[in-house]
Amino acid sequence: MLEDVRALLVLQDRDRRLLSLAKDLEKLPQDEARAQGKLAADNKSVQTANEALVECELQLKRIELDAGARKTTIQRLKVQQFETRKNDEYQALGNEVVRYEKEVDELETKELELMEKIDQLRAAHKEAEAKRAKTQVLINEDIASIRQRSERIKQEQAEITAERDQLAAAIPESIIPLYHRLMKTKDGLAVAPMHDGKCGGCHMKLIASTVVAVQTGKELARCEDCGRILYAD
Ligand SMILES: [Zn+2]
Repeated sequence: MLEDVRALLVLQDRDRRLLSLAKDLEKLPQDEARAQGKLAADNKSVQTANEALVECELQLKRIELDAGARKTTIQRLKVQQFETRKNDEYQALGNEVVRYEKEVDELETKELELMEKIDQLRAAHKEAEAKRAKTQVLINEDIASIRQRSERIKQEQAEITAERDQLAAAIPESIIPLYHRLMKTKDGLAVAPMHDGKCGGCHMKLIASTVVAVQTGKELARCEDCGRILYAD
């Protein structure tokens, strides 16, 4: 194999690793977004639990106000009853008082039921918050590991870049632009092996003189179809 082609192969190996690292790095923001997204369901549960609790508390407040208003009415009716001298009016006011007291009784029963329900809803809300906190811990761990990975990739990129620059410097300047152009346009594969007289890059059959040139390895041989630099595998 031509010495320059051998050197290009090593350079290509480092450049391909750099391409793959760049791809890995590009994916990390998506991984991070996906990790953050895991909180959405838990946020929704907390919100739903909170809404149910607030609604129930409002209901309780309304019933307390209703009961309070009836108690005030009862007081007023009792004063009227005390002040009246007419027997039938006394009786009618008494009936009113009984009716209101019965309503107050019913409202107070409802209050007790609601208080019990509020206790349950508070517990459910707390549980939803605890679950969310647990998820948040997991997400924080995920994100920390994603960021560590990002750091590792960047470090590896710096190391390989330094190495590849050194390798590139040792290759004749006449070949380097061709190599770069092929790397860019041929899917990151500028130097391809020849298999059974075919180009390992585009798989087209090579003409006989190219096959011989690759086999003897005395000059730079290229696929006449895709232009890749060839070497005997
Ligand atoms: Zn080819």
